[in-house]
Amino acid sequence: MIPAPGSTSEVYRPNPSAIVVVIDPGHGGCLDWGVPNPYDNKVAKSEKADTLGIALALRDLLAAQGITVVLTRNDDSALAGDLYPPLGCQGAPFRDVNGDGVAGFGPSVPDSTRTRDELSARIDLANLARADLFISLHINSLTQNGVVYQIAATQTFYTDAFPWADASRRLASTVEADVVRSMGKAASYRRQDRGIDGAAPYLYVLKPPGSAPSSPRRGLFMPAVLSEVGSVSLKAESELLATAPGREAAARGVYDGVVDYLRGRARAARIDALVPAGEAGVAPQPAPGAGPPYWPALVPSSGALQLRLTNTGTASWPAGLQLASGWHASAKPYLAAAPARLQGAGVAIPQLGPGESVELSVTLPAPPSGSRQVAWITLVASDGASFARDGSVALQLATASP
Ligand SMILES: [Zn+2]
Repeated sequence: MIPAPGSTSEVYRPNPSAIVVVIDPGHGGCLDWGVPNPYDNKVAKSEKADTLGIALALRDLLAAQGITVVLTRNDDSALAGDLYPPLGCQGAPFRDVNGDGVAGFGPSVPDSTRTRDELSARIDLANLARADLFISLHINSLTQNGVVYQIAATQTFYTDAFPWADASRRLASTVEADVVRSMGKAASYRRQDRGIDGAAPYLYVLKPPGSAPSSPRRGLFMPAVLSEVGSVSLKAESELLATAPGREAAARGVYDGVVDYLRGRARAARIDALVPAGEAGVAPQPAPGAGPPYWPALVPSSGALQLRLTNTGTASWPAGLQLASGWHASAKPYLAAAPARLQGAGVAIPQLGPGESVELSVTLPAPPSGSRQVAWITLVASDGASFARDGSVALQLATASP
């Protein structure tokens, strides 16, 4: 047992570094500027520049409180390729991340191809980091049939189709309310609160996994929101969002929303593998190649696994928690859903208090032989209340590299 380190963090006092927040600055790279600014469509006022500025300010706020932050990008780059010399784009070659057999950009490639691979890479990064929250930052432009509606507004999307929809909805509500409040204070003009929307079927990054081309093959495993924190269709707001105070106001709003959300999260768990080699930090490092960049760590060949479980909620864990695992054959980086059969590990899980950890040695059941196998390792509560409903992400480990 490892006691909660304790801290003065206003986000999560018992053990702030055990909380992982993925911040996704919408768009980015040479090809994807985001929504056009109707007043000044230069890169300095592009959506991708605004979202990165807000993301970096949000990272600083969270990191100052001890939270572990993973950015899907921390500069003007893309994860899934950005090489298109006809438009002067000299990034890395394109990768087929979602496995649909197509990748790239150009006259003969549908526009959605590059976007889907890029967003799939961002999903994979968050899932393998086992993030507590995924926050995608965007800026809207309210236009219809070429008419620019000169309106400043905030709106936050989530997806109500996941088992952890309640948690996502709560996160969307706190983020929306706090961004509206914070941006309202910074603005010298009227703004609209456009509320939250849980049916966002057009937002690829938030969609449940599916086999349709318009669905990600692997969906996010944790409460996730996409917040249109502001809109450039009002000139005054487009100017405010290009300034440090404007971006800090948006970041402060999202930060307050995260604090409010985590204070109300009673039940949560983090499962880490203390893999001897190859676990360099929370986020996976990109693998070379033309396929998916992010892959899980490998199971030690002995099968003996050292795990650290941490209570990242605000309530003590109930009695009777079980560690369970299952194998499934896959050539994909990791599994999009739990295997059909999970087997109890037969290890007693102590009733950890908030922020406390326990390190356990477990031996996974031997993987079926033959093709590459992926293990899904999770906590199951005896009282029927699933940890997954709060978005506690399963640990996945594989028997082979890409
Ligand atoms: Zn956007």
